[in-house]
Amino acid sequence: MQYQHRFVDGQRAAWPLGKVVCVGRNYAEHAKELNNPVPTSPLLFMKPATSAVALKAPIHLPLNQGPCHFETEIAVLIGETIRQASVETIAPKVAGYGIGLDLTLRQLQDQLKAKGYPWEMAKAFDGACPLSAFVPAQAIVHPEHLGLSTHINGELRQCGFVSEMITPLFELIAFISQHFTLQAGDVVMTGTPAGVGALNPGDQLSLSLLVRNADNSTTTLAQFNASVEN
Ligand code: ZN
Repeated sequence: MQYQHRFVDGQRAAWPLGKVVCVGRNYAEHAKELNNPVPTSPLLFMKPATSAVALKAPIHLPLNQGPCHFETEIAVLIGETIRQASVETIAPKVAGYGIGLDLTLRQLQDQLKAKGYPWEMAKAFDGACPLSAFVPAQAIVHPEHLGLSTHINGELRQCGFVSEMITPLFELIAFISQHFTLQAGDVVMTGTPAGVGALNPGDQLSLSLLVRNADNSTTTLAQFNASVEN
């Protein structure tokens, strides 16, 4: 079944998914864990619409291609065309915030990287981009305080906040828009914090979109559960 954006109340978004624009190494701790240098400007790549699936569906891992890593990311649903835009014009053009998984065939990516080849075979395969339903942007007063967490089989594996990003949300989207026009229905994946690892058959995932409050406590805005097929 073709992927279709939805909001957390179950409503379908008006637009089809065009493309998913992703950033590599946007949290310093994650760059370090993969022995990658921290880039001086955002490292961009894309996933095609055919890589998207609803996050709630069972996650299918590609067969015989080595470990498939989870990278949990804040996913931003674009609601209006953004082209060569400045940072302060971005917020009203966002339709929603959710959680995406940037599934990555890590061994294949390492081989491609070693040869200086593009990464698409490791990151753009069918099913490589499970996307949650989106929390409408109007419901989020302080997107600069958003965060995420990843629990696998009940264990906390990842936790990160926009405040820890090398290039924060709106700066990142403004940067992307200098290179690629973003259209309504496109998704921007904002990078993953440290703690990535391989998924295994039967794993139970619980992924949360968080917000940090003024008193430093955190509130869960939405939680999404999914499992890896057996
Ligand atoms: Zn990623």
